[in-house]
Order: sequence, then structure tokens, then C-alpha cells
Amino acid sequence: MTLSQQLGRLIGVREHQVDPGGGGPRRVRHPVEAVVVGGGIAGMSAAVVLAERGVRVTVLEAAPTLGGRLGAWPETLADGTRQMNEHGFHAFFRQYYNWRSILRRIDPGLGFLKPIPGYPILSAQWPTEEFGKLPPAPPLNLLSLLARSPSLRLGDLRQMDRDAALPLLTYDPVRTYAELDGTTAEELLDSLKLPDRARAMLFEVFSHSFFNHEAQMSAAEMVAQFHFYLLGNSEGLAFDCPDEDYATAIWQPLTRHVERHGGQVLTGSAVTALRRDGDRWQVESADGTTYPAGHVVLAVDPPALAALVKASPGLADQAPGLVERMPAFGTPGPPYAVARYWLEGDVSQRRAVFNGVSRQATLDSVTLYHRLENEPRIWAQRTGGSVVELHAYACEPGVPAEELAERMRAELGVLWPEFAGLRVRELRARVEAQAPAFTPNSHATRPGVRTDADGLYLAGDGIATDFPSALMERSAATGIIAANRILRAEGGAAEPVRSIRPRGLLAGRS
Ligand SMILES: Cc1cc2nc3c(=O)[nH]c(=O)nc-3n(C[C@H](O)[C@H](O)[C@H](O)COP(=O)(O)OP(=O)(O)OC[C@H]3O[C@@H](n4cnc5c(N)ncnc54)[C@H](O)[C@@H]3O)c2cc1C
Repeated sequence: MTLSQQLGRLIGVREHQVDPGGGGPRRVRHPVEAVVVGGGIAGMSAAVVLAERGVRVTVLEAAPTLGGRLGAWPETLADGTRQMNEHGFHAFFRQYYNWRSILRRIDPGLGFLKPIPGYPILSAQWPTEEFGKLPPAPPLNLLSLLARSPSLRLGDLRQMDRDAALPLLTYDPVRTYAELDGTTAEELLDSLKLPDRARAMLFEVFSHSFFNHEAQMSAAEMVAQFHFYLLGNSEGLAFDCPDEDYATAIWQPLTRHVERHGGQVLTGSAVTALRRDGDRWQVESADGTTYPAGHVVLAVDPPALAALVKASPGLADQAPGLVERMPAFGTPGPPYAVARYWLEGDVSQRRAVFNGVSRQATLDSVTLYHRLENEPRIWAQRTGGSVVELHAYACEPGVPAEELAERMRAELGVLWPEFAGLRVRELRARVEAQAPAFTPNSHATRPGVRTDADGLYLAGDGIATDFPSALMERSAATGIIAANRILRAEGGAAEPVRSIRPRGLLAGRS
């Protein structure tokens, strides 16, 4: 344990138990059937826990491959080479306690996750700033950031509105939303009166990573994410990544795990509607098969959830509260773009594997896949080329994927001149809109895991939790909570749920 973690522990910055689990036998003692709709992180996390406890669980995934927004699938390049492509680069942060506990089922030591050295932020206006090498725990990480960052000098701190900055340190799962959910993240950032450089390099990059524009994102959500990623956990901003594609590293072994425990995982099985029939649910799929079950977990992305609820008219009687929340919840955040380039030649050896980008019109991050995963590494060694993935997290609607890819490529060429000269051999570009929106005033009506219908639960990164969580970790946590609700209803042992320090450093105990 580092000095900063020891110091952090003294002020309660450590792993906290949200639910100790247990409370019944390791396996349910009578037949229980559950259907999980959606085979992303949320659905597969629920399925892992249910299958281990002896529940007969069936996962129905619409796509031909598992993983959803963490998915991976094979592509054939023009030269005939097979390469795995992915929905996009993901950082596996170390405070993702619940997601990591699911991943430990397939690799107890998490050896497949390799530390990523450094987390630089690139800018055309200011020198690169490094985030990944801070001490892991607060308050030393914050003090070190303030001491080291050229973006925020002591004089700037004096000019900052310290009262406006206080919410960042006083996160509280109830009060923060009561006070700030009606404000936008942009308004909160404006009120801090930060120098432009600090705002761009320290804050904007961070808020973009939540797939929402600051002007359309709740300030309370931004404060919650600051707490979750920077000010409330003892693991730091450092993260790890698999060294193989997500299908090989995660989805194939997790599927085998679920199947070994008696569950089944069916891809290419789109669910079209839900129906209540007596005390059971009937889950209808596009191929005409109906899956009966006492419990259903809907672990789909927000637009898909709204579509499924709309296509299930009977739900208006069973779950009126859920139906009422859907149109707003199902409207996703802005589109995001992912472009993976296979290139002739490489960028400089001193470039980092993962880079955040500040204040470019489109580009938000750059990942060098040929220095990250084995298959692109081998391709690059064989061809002398490189595999580079570019992301835009909240982009202009209506712009085609290829156009966004070209804009991102041109912007990176400004930041890294040697990149501009690399010839493109192959491009896979996509633009999608599936991320949850965290608009102002959305907290009060954000659905939680429990719905108002018996035996019907929700899971996913847009579903509310009453403890700090986000993105992949929220998907895994809500999946586990959904499984726990089923297990408690059926008398089986629940799975422990963990999180970080529940409140901000200056939030007090009340
Ligand atoms: C480009 C990009 C980069 C990201 N980077 C990070 C990162 O660095 N760190 C991080 O923590 N998070 C990151 N995220 C967010 C992360 O990917 C998501 O939070 C997480 O994967 C969501 O998982 P989920 O299971 O909740 O939803 P999804 O992954 O969306 O899974 C839902 C599944 O439901 C399926 N489905 C939909 N409708 C139906 C239906 N009718 N029938 C059956 N199946 C259906 C879908 O096909 C999908 O597989 C990133 C996301 C993107 C897009």
C-alpha cells in the first residue's frame, strides 16, 4: 500500500461494502428460471451470479456477438487478413470493484489486464499534461495535481471561486442531486472561474468521457463522477487494459463460465416484446421463440429499453412507472464516433498507448492498438504498419462516420505531425448513439434496478445506483444487484456489492 493510500484510509478513502451478500444457501434449493435480455457487461454480470447460484438463466443477445458497447468481432481486411475490431478502447479502472469481481471468475489474478503507463492529455495550445502518474489516493493525489500541474498555479487558485468549487469535495448521494441536478456541468465550470487552460486540460477532457456535452449534462452527475474517479477512491486514475481483444479476453471465457454453471447464452436472439402470463413472464424473440421465466432482467442500452417497453403494451398495466419514465430515459446522449485505422508506418516511439485530447473540434482520444493488443501488434510487426483508434465522445449529430473519422485524422495530424504522413491502408468507422444521457433534472426520474412489476429488473450504465459508480462499473454493479434481488426473492445467497468512499472528503457524515 502506498503512503497516499495509507493516508487516504485514515480519512475513509477505501473500498466500502454496499451489500455484504450472503443470507441463504450458495445454490437455490428449488428450480428458478430467469431470462436476461442483453449480453453486454450488465447482462453477463447478472447471468454469472445467477448461474453460479443454480438459477437456470438464459441470456438473449440481439447481436451476433456478445459485449454490446464492449463488443468485439472479426473483420477481413482488403489483403485477406483477419483482424478483430472492437466497439472502442476501454480503460479498466482499479476502483471497478464489482466489474473486476466478475472478471476474476475467468482469471482470478486478473493477469490479462495490463497496466497502461501514463495518461497524457494532448493539446494544440498547451504542452501535454500527464494524469496517470499521480499518487493513487486523495488527498495526496489532489495536492500533487495542484503542485505539479502547469495548468493550475497557486495564483489561479486564489482567483478561483472556492465556494463554487466546494461541491466537488462535498459529494453526497442525496444532497448533491438536490442542490445541483438542475444546473448544467457547463454552468458549474463557468462558476469556478478557472483559467481557460485549467478548464480545458483538467475538466473538459474529463466531462467528455461521459458521452455528454457539458451544456446538456447535469452538474450533479459531473460532481458524482469527479468523486468516483478522482476524489473518492484509493486506486487513482491509473487503469489497465486487456492485451487481447474483448471477445478472446472476456466474452468467450465468461460464456464458458455461465455455461459450466448450467446457464445458456444465445446470440442473434433479439427480444421483440415482454408479456405477463399469470405469475410468469413470456419473453418473445424475433425468431418466434418464447422464453417463459419467473424473473427477467432487461440489460439493454437506453434506446433499446425504450423500444422494448413500447413494443410490450401489456407493461402499461404491470409497470406503469417504468412506462412513464421511458421516452425521456430512452433518448440517448449525443452520437459518438470510433475510427480504427490500419496504417503504413508508425508514429514516434515516444507516443503513449492511450492519450486524451483537449479542445479539438472532434477528436477526444487516441489509442495505439499495435502497442496494446497482441493481434494488432503482430500485424504491425509483419507489415511495418500501425493500428490507431480515434474516438469522439460527443459529436455533432447527422455527420457520417467516414467524415467524422477524416476530421479526427486531420486533427491528430496537427497534434502529431508524423501521423499526418502515414498512408491509410484500411479504415473501420462507426458512429452510434447508445450512451445514456445525464441531462439536468433527470436524476429524480432515472429508473433503478427494481421496477414496479414483480420479477422485472433493469441493469445497465444508465440505471441509477445509490452509491458512486459509472460506465462499465455501473453496468456490472446493476447487473449484480438485479441478480441479488432475484436470489433474495428465491432464498439464495446474494453476491457482495462494493464501492468507494460513499461521500466527498468534506461532506461530513450526515
Ligand atoms: C467508444 C466507447 C468507449 C468507452 N470507454 C469506456 C471506458 O474507457 N471505461 C468505461 O468504464 N466505460 C467506457 N465506455 C462505456 C461502456 O462501454 C458502457 O458503460 C458499458 O459497456 C455498457 O454496458 P451495458 O451492458 O450496460 O450496455 P450495452 O453494452 O449497450 O449492452 C446492451 C446489450 O443489449 C443488446 N440488446 C439491445 N436490444 C436488445 C434486444 N431487443 N434483445 C436482445 N438484446 C438486445 C445490445 O446488442 C447489447 O449487446 C465506453 C463506451 C464507448 C461506446
